Amino acid sequence: MSIQWYPGHMAKALRQVSEQLKRIDVVIELLDARIPYSSRNPKIDDLVENKPRLILLNKADMADKEVTKRWREYYEAQGAKTLEINAQDGSGVQHIPDQVNELASDMIEKMKKKGMNPRPVRAMILGIPNVGKSTLINRLAKRKSTKIGDKPGVTKSQQWIKVAKKIELLDTPGILWPKFEEQDVGFRLALTGAIKEEIFDVQDAVVFLLRYLRSSYPEQLQERYQVSIDSDDIVEWFDEIGKRRGCLVSGGNIDYERTAEVIFRDFRSGRLGRMTLEEPPS
Ligand code: GDP
Repeated sequence: MSIQWYPGHMAKALRQVSEQLKRIDVVIELLDARIPYSSRNPKIDDLVENKPRLILLNKADMADKEVTKRWREYYEAQGAKTLEINAQDGSGVQHIPDQVNELASDMIEKMKKKGMNPRPVRAMILGIPNVGKSTLINRLAKRKSTKIGDKPGVTKSQQWIKVAKKIELLDTPGILWPKFEEQDVGFRLALTGAIKEEIFDVQDAVVFLLRYLRSSYPEQLQERYQVSIDSDDIVEWFDEIGKRRGCLVSGGNIDYERTAEVIFRDFRSGRLGRMTLEEPPS
């Protein structure tokens, strides 16, 4: 479930997360591999400061492998560790404990030098709504499902889950808002399910998608819809796709709304193939 953000929510979420961070050694930041920029909270760097950080590119099963690799290089160049994962089927998740331990090695060494017996490393998951936080927590906790509040500011008693020999994870994730000041960012969030359908226009999002596919994934676009990509007349594409999919209104005209829905669902469900909607800055 995605939520709508208001200034009050944001302030509350920030306060809550910064309070939780006081007890955290390693931050696990969850991003959507299809939109690693747009799914990143704009305040996260200020919030996390210099705590060791593991950036997980989730839903990597739906993203473009080659672009995911470049995004990982981009974030690693900034000093984070990264992994690509699929929280739903668990691939990649098995590497998380080793990475967390490695990120906490300085802290562990310091404790040992002081003659202390190192306590377990404490980690928490941070991310925007719908990025897969609950799915990942359940997987790490090896349990089937749990209700995890999706509203910022909803306090509930928190527990530590043991996820590896010497690693404890906070059982509730920190929920932050995505970037949304730019229009294209809004479209990417809409297409990947990070924002509610009621708050954007599906046709606008689909026009954005078709333009992007034409420049970045022309083969997939052509294969799925047999449209002529030599033309950049979006209305023509809608006509062709709508006709082929039987999205017609009485009189034989194309039902653009339904056509947009079809394309939108195709993207959401992965029927257009693996694709990433944004590239790292070069
Ligand atoms: P949260 O709001 O961040 O806690 O997100 P959820 O854990 O509820 O996940 C949101 C949706 O994404 C659910 O339908 C999950 O099944 C789906 N999901 C989570 N991780 C993955 C993944 O790696 N791949 C795919 N394809 N879907 C995922």
